[in-house]
Amino acid sequence: MMRVKRAAITVLLSILLVISLVAAVILMRTISSGYDIPDTEHVSYTDIPHDDAVQRLSHALQYRTISTQEDREQHRHEFDAFIDFIRDSYPLIHENLELEIVNNYTMLFKWEGSRPDLSAAMMQGHYDVVPVEPGTFEDWTYPPFEGTIADGFVWGRGAIDDKSGIMSYMEAITYLLERGFQPERTVYIALNHDEEVGGRQGARKVADLMLEREIDIAFLTDEGMPVAEKILEGLEHPIAMIGVAEKGYVSLELNVNKEGGHSSMPPRETTIGALSAAITNLKQQPMEGRFAGLVRETFQPLLPDLPFIYRMGLSNLWLFGGVIEERLGFIPHTNAALRTTIAPTMFHAGIKENILPQTAEAIINFRIHPNDSVREVLYYVQETIDNNKIEVRVLEGAREPSPVSSTSSVAYLDMKQTIHEIFPDVPVAPAMFLAATDSRHFTEVTENLLRFRPIRVRPDDRGRIHGTNERIGIDNYAEMIAFYIRLIENTTTGLQATI
Ligand SMILES: [Zn+2]
Repeated sequence: MMRVKRAAITVLLSILLVISLVAAVILMRTISSGYDIPDTEHVSYTDIPHDDAVQRLSHALQYRTISTQEDREQHRHEFDAFIDFIRDSYPLIHENLELEIVNNYTMLFKWEGSRPDLSAAMMQGHYDVVPVEPGTFEDWTYPPFEGTIADGFVWGRGAIDDKSGIMSYMEAITYLLERGFQPERTVYIALNHDEEVGGRQGARKVADLMLEREIDIAFLTDEGMPVAEKILEGLEHPIAMIGVAEKGYVSLELNVNKEGGHSSMPPRETTIGALSAAITNLKQQPMEGRFAGLVRETFQPLLPDLPFIYRMGLSNLWLFGGVIEERLGFIPHTNAALRTTIAPTMFHAGIKENILPQTAEAIINFRIHPNDSVREVLYYVQETIDNNKIEVRVLEGAREPSPVSSTSSVAYLDMKQTIHEIFPDVPVAPAMFLAATDSRHFTEVTENLLRFRPIRVRPDDRGRIHGTNERIGIDNYAEMIAFYIRLIENTTTGLQATI
């Protein structure tokens, strides 16, 4: 009896020991997880002619350089006028850099470096904008095409996407030229004109030129991720994200044909029923998403600022990985970072309320995670719907996800360093860009594609991009100009310019 009791106590003690060991490991990992912001010296430029720069941005927003799928030529004169405006506003650039107009509207500048043996750098952005949705003009606090400067902001379509980007390039280059700066590396600057409708006439043509001329490009910097504030509830600290990858894209058409008939005697399976069941299956069994790789790296710097319970989960994925994946899967923007997303966007069937339709057709749009491919999406859909009466067709315009750019390249590290110099106290993390940029055309031109704009974005700003009341903070615009001055200094001269 004694022996049994003693054995029970030993077992109990061992269990307690294991539990406390596990708890200690969890706690240790939770406490030691963190991100050290390197002790970088803050760099600032006090002599940027800021008021003039803001005026020029305001002016840039007044051009209706609108891209629409239907009628590209409709705003042609606005594009011509914008090119003249850039010419007139930045005379020093026109004196010192070569300008080539690609395919009528895209401006490609070449800033010759002093060392032809070095590979070139490239900076890209776009000056076309999306239209203002009819019926929403009145909702704007200040009209969308007047470039109003008020309340500490410059307001207008393109203020965030992407005129502040390209205008801050121009300001930064002018600033450097005025001070006699000469890059060692040649710098190409492309101001594209049709990013909002796919970039086939602008960025694609520039990329083709680069390939044709066999120009060696060390890295390309483009619009992309911002300095995001409050990306999770309860999180005060901003984070600067460098987009090192971009999702792929495919739309699939699902089509089912059956005998029609009178709706008074419906068969067991109807066209609408079969198609709805297929879509329900897809929504209920999404493609696999794992909290690993890039998405995990994105979260790493946020750990110290997260509530204890989140920190514990995220630093102990060996135990809580499943729970974390499930939770993040519920929030649309984190779910999109985790996996290939499924969005049924069109559904057509039926012509009359008492006739069973003979055909039903749905279109589903997928944004493909770098872990997957167009083929894998197709295979997954066929397996999941498991109904050979439904035909699945890949629609035009599919593209694979981009390769993931390295986070240990000189270009990435230089950009990270520049962010720390201009935005002290802001951690930097690589991330996946969930929409598309013109960078997609450059995957053969360079392997270092860095999609980042030093724009401070809060959750309520997300709706302003392509939406109502787009605006950029005046102080933030000063940071953007400083950022690009520093980025050019850091990446085109000195020790770094050795690759
Ligand atoms: Zn854009």
